[in-house]
Amino acid sequence: MSQAATEETTVGTITTRAAITRAAHTGWQITDLQLDPPRDHEVRVKFMAAGLCHSDHHITEGDALIRLPVVGGHEGAGVVESVGPHVSRVKPGDRVVCSYIPACGKCRSCSTGHQNMCDEGKNAGTGMFPDGTWRFHDAEGTDIGGFCTLGTFSQYAVVLEWACIRLPDDISFEVGSLVGCGVPTGWGSAVYAAGVRAGQTVVIFGAGGVGSNAVQGARFAGAKNVVVVDPVEFKRDMAKVFGATHTFADAKEAQDFVVDTTHGQLADHAICTPGVLTEEIVRAATLITGKGAKVTITAVGRATETAVNVHAGFLIGYQRQIRGALFGDCNPLYDVPKLLDLYRSGDLKLDELITHRYALDEVNEAYQDMLDGKNIRGIIVHEH
Ligand SMILES: [Zn+2]
Ligand SMILES: [Zn+2]
Repeated sequence: MSQAATEETTVGTITTRAAITRAAHTGWQITDLQLDPPRDHEVRVKFMAAGLCHSDHHITEGDALIRLPVVGGHEGAGVVESVGPHVSRVKPGDRVVCSYIPACGKCRSCSTGHQNMCDEGKNAGTGMFPDGTWRFHDAEGTDIGGFCTLGTFSQYAVVLEWACIRLPDDISFEVGSLVGCGVPTGWGSAVYAAGVRAGQTVVIFGAGGVGSNAVQGARFAGAKNVVVVDPVEFKRDMAKVFGATHTFADAKEAQDFVVDTTHGQLADHAICTPGVLTEEIVRAATLITGKGAKVTITAVGRATETAVNVHAGFLIGYQRQIRGALFGDCNPLYDVPKLLDLYRSGDLKLDELITHRYALDEVNEAYQDMLDGKNIRGIIVHEH
């Protein structure tokens, strides 16, 4: 038995400052919450940095059907403050990245190399722990979950040990927070879910915090043409930094280019990583791909709309595939260290993704900046 496995928490409930939302269209409120000590297979993490992903904004827009109130944030890195009984993966003082889908290592998905679909991720929308209870509570005693059973928009959170991945000492917490969601989701969408191969033509719809990494993945996998469609000029400029070969403001311009450059063969892949998935984007992505091509869907649409609505003839005639991707098909325990290695060797740009830093109190302004197209990734730097 390891040292960590014998450690048990001796600390009690603490107060933590967090951004929560209680109802759709009310934004984030900063409040003090009570946070229980960690129980079996749980650890309490002191978050140092949190990434501002669009998925959290889908909650405040009412587009994510999850239990409210909720503590926002599912990208984060920090230090293990305390551990509950039977924890063996980490120990107090360890620097960690939190994976927004845990990897227990023993469920059917984990044991077949699909940690992105680990059964322990089943409570992502409620933040409930396996014993049926919650760790955050407000002043009235209301149980509050953390989004993805994390809640990185809190100075501290209790998480499953299965969500923890060691963060090497030479990697900053800010960079670490990004590899818990946006980076593997985008990079893996190109490399694993799409399976981009050398010489191919790939079109990426949306070049934000996820799409920028799909660009990096497609380029690293050897795509000849990495074509980006994004209406925001700043994002198109940044896409070139990440490896885009051609960028366009709208799908029509991209379609004309792809027809021309492939001599009518069309693209091998379209990867959909916009902020909000729409029927229009899926249709454009389908039409820009050729025979035997694949459309990979990584983004989330509005709760009230059906974004994938394509005539069957479009799929059958060219044997096109439309395929969803969760966490970019990544295995967090394998891919997070691998992506950090690629960052060290200069094959993956992560510092360049961070466009603004915010205090927790500025979370609503931060999301407004995202909507205004000012950010690739904004980061909350927690104060302690
Ligand atoms: Zn995310
Ligand atoms: Zn599992």
